[in-house]
Amino acid sequence: MRDDAALVLFSGGQDSATCLAWALDRFGHVETLGFDYAQRHVIELETRAAMRDALCRDAGWAAKLGPDHVLDLRALGGISETSLTRDVAIEMETGGLPNTFVPGRNLIFLTFAAALAYRRGIRNIVTGVCETDYSGYPDCRDDTIKALQVAINLGMERRFVLHTPLMWRDKAATWELAEKLGGPALIDSIRTVTHSCYLGDRTPHEWGAGCGTCPACELRAAGWRKYQCK
Ligand code: ZN
Repeated sequence: MRDDAALVLFSGGQDSATCLAWALDRFGHVETLGFDYAQRHVIELETRAAMRDALCRDAGWAAKLGPDHVLDLRALGGISETSLTRDVAIEMETGGLPNTFVPGRNLIFLTFAAALAYRRGIRNIVTGVCETDYSGYPDCRDDTIKALQVAINLGMERRFVLHTPLMWRDKAATWELAEKLGGPALIDSIRTVTHSCYLGDRTPHEWGAGCGTCPACELRAAGWRKYQCK
């Protein structure tokens, strides 16, 4: 098992692109993992190759960047009644969670990531989950990830480390981290290449591409404005 290797859960969004840069800065060998779960914003997956290329170009990380893996988790979309996987409007539900919540998504993602890391001999697993401004998704919480690390390590008889570099950062702080890691070139690549919009809209804005009105776009635009004001 390689201590200096990492597997990054890489969706093609702002957060996971920043996590990928973080991992490339920190580890000697980095592989990426994406999931196809029949999400409506499948365009996210199409931006992954472009962002990987940009990371190699911006900071000279080509020698560290290993293979990309994409796993088919369409069964998750099949059992989820959410606005991310069904053609329904995004809204808040009675429990206080938006209907973009896909139950168990991060638990399933990280378990599959660990199974892949096991086979690839990779100790470190990196995910962009964040407790600060993530709509209250319970599977993004620090306690959830820590508990899952224990469960995975017990269940697989390994010593994986689940890294969450964005856990306590808001979107503006995530831009600051990207700036520290790769300077203006990385900021520009993340801003123009990555995709966050739930609706798959690629209308260009100052803060990146998106519809401008869904919760993901609002969060991204607000974070960009706050970062610009620093
Ligand atoms: Zn949007």
